[in-house]
Amino acid sequence: MTQTLASTRVQLIAPLTGILVPIEMVPDPVFAKKMVGDGISIDPLSGVLLAPIDGEVVNVQPAKHAVTIRSADGLEVLLHIGLDTVRMGGKGFQAKVKAGQQVSVGDELIAFDLDTVAKEALSLLTQVVVTNSDAISSLTPMTGMVTAGQDVVAEIVLNQASAEAGPVVGGRALSSEAVLIPNPTGLHARPAATLVALAKQFDSDITLRRGDDTANAKSIMAIMSMAVARGDKIIVSTHGPDAEAALNAVVEGITSGLGEDCPPLPLGGPDTAAVPAVDAEPERVSEAPRSGDPNLLLGVAASPGLGVGQVMQLHHEDIVVAEFATDKHLERRKLNSAIDRALLDLSALQSRLEKESDEQNAAIFAAHATILQDPDLLDIASSAIEKGNSAPFAWRGAFQTYADRLAGLKNEILAGRANDVRDVGQRVLEELTGQRREKPEIPENTILIAEDLTPSDTATLDRSRVVGFATTSGGASSHVAIIARSLDIPAVAGIEGRALSIADGTRVVLDGGKGTLQMNLSDAQIDGIVARQRRIAAKRERDLSHAGEPATTTDGHQVHVVANIGGLQDAQDAMPLGAEGVGLLRSEFVFLGRQSAPSEQEQATLYTDIAKALKPGQPLVIRTLDVGGDKPLPYLPIPAEENPFLGVRGVRVGFDRPEVLRTQCRAIIKAAGAGAELFVMFPMIATIDDWRFAKQIWDEEAAALGAGADVKVGIMMEVPSVGVMAEQFAAEDVAFFSVGTNDLTSYTLAMDRGHPKLAAQVDPCNPAVLKLIGQACDALHAKGKWLGICGGVASDPQAVPILVGLGADELSCSIPAIPAVKAAVRAYSLDQCKALAAKAIKCSTPAEVRALVPVDEG
Ligand code: PEP
Ligand code: MG
Repeated sequence: MTQTLASTRVQLIAPLTGILVPIEMVPDPVFAKKMVGDGISIDPLSGVLLAPIDGEVVNVQPAKHAVTIRSADGLEVLLHIGLDTVRMGGKGFQAKVKAGQQVSVGDELIAFDLDTVAKEALSLLTQVVVTNSDAISSLTPMTGMVTAGQDVVAEIVLNQASAEAGPVVGGRALSSEAVLIPNPTGLHARPAATLVALAKQFDSDITLRRGDDTANAKSIMAIMSMAVARGDKIIVSTHGPDAEAALNAVVEGITSGLGEDCPPLPLGGPDTAAVPAVDAEPERVSEAPRSGDPNLLLGVAASPGLGVGQVMQLHHEDIVVAEFATDKHLERRKLNSAIDRALLDLSALQSRLEKESDEQNAAIFAAHATILQDPDLLDIASSAIEKGNSAPFAWRGAFQTYADRLAGLKNEILAGRANDVRDVGQRVLEELTGQRREKPEIPENTILIAEDLTPSDTATLDRSRVVGFATTSGGASSHVAIIARSLDIPAVAGIEGRALSIADGTRVVLDGGKGTLQMNLSDAQIDGIVARQRRIAAKRERDLSHAGEPATTTDGHQVHVVANIGGLQDAQDAMPLGAEGVGLLRSEFVFLGRQSAPSEQEQATLYTDIAKALKPGQPLVIRTLDVGGDKPLPYLPIPAEENPFLGVRGVRVGFDRPEVLRTQCRAIIKAAGAGAELFVMFPMIATIDDWRFAKQIWDEEAAALGAGADVKVGIMMEVPSVGVMAEQFAAEDVAFFSVGTNDLTSYTLAMDRGHPKLAAQVDPCNPAVLKLIGQACDALHAKGKWLGICGGVASDPQAVPILVGLGADELSCSIPAIPAVKAAVRAYSLDQCKALAAKAIKCSTPAEVRALVPVDEG
């Protein structure tokens, strides 16, 4: 392909695939008013910028967001990816060329991550601009959709008559003192264009000098090539008839920021306003693209189920408050009485939920009441009132500061509590001001999208109209997710930010099980999904009707299907769904809301009550406290750690505070004999020494009480070392393993299990994880011992035959999954399961593993 027609015409070839947008419509006056030059903009669909002409790379901007090419004809073309992208400091951009390099049309110049730019920049619109306007006599932009490297985006007629204006003759030659550049991102395209426009008002030659570098102040390309950064010292020189006026105007223009807001430069110490300097090499791995499909948005699965409906964006309007007040005492009284009224409301809400047996949500509002009594929060508000602020202003500042502090914590659960603080803070603010947030009218079949939903929003949702929701914040363990699960509303948390720009009324499908939101589906696709929903519901009914029967393969091999529970209520709920006992009592959940440690007796009573809720002889596996990592326990604060998931977590906390572990061991021993068969296991065992130490503590407590001989003691296999050394662990005095695949997968793959961007990859069906499980089964069976699986994969019917084939003796699932897991066991023979397992561990990817087992949706 040639881009030169005769000698005076040049075609610019599409540097990106996308839709052409007239330069005048770019929402940045510097481009729209052609201050940088004439050109065209592209709304891109591809993420690799290609050369639009043959030529030399004159300059690649330090933030790798822009590049200039000069053709042999002297045409200078600036390609500027997105708007305000300079602020990204190179994040998400990877330069493929260097200054001085020759390129041909279609060569790769810069690769960039569309998602990252879409999220962090003002716009993705990418400008293709001729910066030396003098060199052209016309530019005709094209319209429509273009394909990178193929279609023409603009035709240019070169101005052959034009020559560089010759040097100015006569007049004065002046130079300024060194001028400090105040712009946070230096002289990038926008301030450079403003400077050029200013310089062009004068006849004199104007030069910028930094050390040995010089640039003509009337050439945007020359200025950008100099890569002037914040804090650089520039000397301005002018020469010509209006040299003095030009010098004053340019120096004044530069010091006042050339139209940008510039925080003052520091006299010494760190410059916090500067956008971080870009290293020679850009960040190689920017934010990974979440999905290659513009119609598919990814997040974290927060509550399972499919929702088909129309989008409604939920925004919270700010309540307007006066900043100052005159009577401090009156303001304090107003605040106290608003808090009292909010407390009354909360307690009414709590009692209503308790009456409806919704203990989980009742507990959340009980926690809100506790927040309102937090001395720290009240102190922040009081001191603002003391300084003359009105009660609403002081209160709003206090709860927002407090919430921001929590949100800044690395711990996902604590950060999730920021939302609770904002929620209850808003409740008091409404009381204080009498301004209630309008509850929006929600149409039928609504999929709500919001940055965040407060627990109050979620608890008061009209279940009959909301068929799903997605939030850009939060994770699978946020309160919002917990409430969504308890309301049985499909939900996705941590969804991509672009979800917030989906227009109200857009038809979407939300898959709370996969953590996805899909747009632009055809009628036929939607019909297919609705039919699928019906099939799933019918299968659910069928599975439920057989829930009480054992889970036996077609050739008579029985697998024990038990429940994961967080307390007594769960144990009671699990029984009618066919649970054959409890495979994991997350004991830390039982006392989550408490401010002080439960006594030995309190714990013993609770474990006894749970044991009694099961049928006699059914297993009850109690896991000792698993705090640390993402699980805080208010009465057991863990000092902040750099890497909490690799720090004092699980049984390590028990070693650190042996009295806590010993008390719990005694309580468990005391609950033995209450009906269920009791088992105890320790979380996060990583070494043989961990196990021996934990077992020694148990044995000492049992010996001291003269009891506990009938309680079997086991290991939670959550750390890969246990799977790798399964034979050595199996040879110990250990009764069983229970595999926590949530953590095991996370530690095997070195991926945070709650990370919204990695969620899709943290798949327990990864062959590496399955191999560890298979190995552990073999090692235990060789010693006549058993293995259970209590991580999330045990609740995944697709994985069930593989887990059974690997040798799992027990599957401990989330309560709602029990009937489907039992049905999945019944669908296969043990031989089929073994064959699947053998193939699975030979697969290369989780996708290959999943492809082995068809999903049975009924
Ligand atoms: C696991 O890690 O798989 C597990 C069951 O423990 P938790 O999810 O409570 O960390
Ligand atoms: Mg775990």
